[in-house]
Amino acid sequence: MPAVVSAVDRPAEAAVDVAVVGAGPAGLYAAYYAGFRGLSAVVVDALDEPGGQVSALYPEKLLYDVAGHPAVKGRQLIDNLLEQAAPFDTRYLLGRTVVGLARRTGGWTLSTDDGGRVDAGAVVIAAGLGRFVPRRLPCSVPYEGRGVAYHVPRPEAHAGRDVVVVGGGDSAVDWALALAPLARSTTLVHRRSTFRAHEYSVRQLYASAVRVVTDAEVVACHGAQRLEQVEFRRGEEVFTLPSQALVAALGFTSGLGPVAEWGIDLEHRRIRVDRSMCTNLPGVHAVGDVCTYPGRVPLITVGFGEAGTAVNHAAVTLRPGERLAPEHSSDTFPGAGDRAAVPSASAA
Ligand SMILES: Cc1cc2nc3c(=O)[nH]c(=O)nc-3n(C[C@H](O)[C@H](O)[C@H](O)COP(=O)(O)OP(=O)(O)OC[C@H]3O[C@@H](n4cnc5c(N)ncnc54)[C@H](O)[C@@H]3O)c2cc1C
Repeated sequence: MPAVVSAVDRPAEAAVDVAVVGAGPAGLYAAYYAGFRGLSAVVVDALDEPGGQVSALYPEKLLYDVAGHPAVKGRQLIDNLLEQAAPFDTRYLLGRTVVGLARRTGGWTLSTDDGGRVDAGAVVIAAGLGRFVPRRLPCSVPYEGRGVAYHVPRPEAHAGRDVVVVGGGDSAVDWALALAPLARSTTLVHRRSTFRAHEYSVRQLYASAVRVVTDAEVVACHGAQRLEQVEFRRGEEVFTLPSQALVAALGFTSGLGPVAEWGIDLEHRRIRVDRSMCTNLPGVHAVGDVCTYPGRVPLITVGFGEAGTAVNHAAVTLRPGERLAPEHSSDTFPGAGDRAAVPSASAA
């Protein structure tokens, strides 16, 4: 049984039918589906941007295996998911980690690391690989939020800047390529002589305007209020570049973190679910990469199906008498206006 957490004595920040933990593709689709079923929803994510792995690791890549999209850029897919949920009043609590899950009469209370709480009739855990923690570049830490970032949610924000990207994987190369047409200058610094990124991307990189500096390490950052210069070493030589932005694309570590302490049955650090995507805790579902069952394949399209299944089952639990299968969306699309007429389970 999950522990009752101390934060529950604060007033609820939100009281909804469905609380979704994680704003990756599966969580965002669960939020849409809740709205489609006439349920109010809140989505909480530890990252400042929605999109989970897609936004944090590969927003510029094309995906070719998402149902209904012959090819879609990661960033576009996430924008589309947000747009799909937009007719409903979904609330997004970003930059907050869900640290606790406690049973209450009629549902569950989630508590967040900033002391907030969300009361919900049902919970959908879509925590993917868990909370992402960026691998940091020690000398750049004092400039976090003042020029130093770990991913590039909106490349346009770097227009006209001198940008240094650090790293040798796909994210570093993709971001350097995305920034080059916008930034005043883009330099990619990698401590090895070869890149781990896709061969095609590396060919593009060397054909682009990106200044590529290999066998070099960033050793210092300078600037009074914000980042102004980056110093790096190559062999015995030390260079200084003007730089108003440094993107440390060194990867992320991830782990289930607090989710593992909520009394939920786990198998190999994944949440075990039944055919309704329900965990061992009644009313608590799990979808996407965080869940497991025999034969599960970790793909976005699979997570979408699981989100639909979980929310349809939650709808029946929250409103006994409702049908498991929804009306076809092509027959009746319940927009925000229609939804307002349906009383919320949490308001009851
Ligand atoms: C480089 C790369 C390329 C890929 N290409 C493809 C592809 O082409 N096609 C495909 O189908 N799949 C692809 N994948 C896999 C795909 O990205 C994942 O299957 C998908 O992102 C899983 O979605 P999700 O919503 O389950 O979880 P995630 O995307 O992992 O999102 C989970 C979210 O939960 C949040 N979270 C976790 N714990 C908490 C907490 N306690 N409180 C608050 N928030 C929390 C995290 O911050 C995160 O934002 C690729 C993956 C990588 C790394």
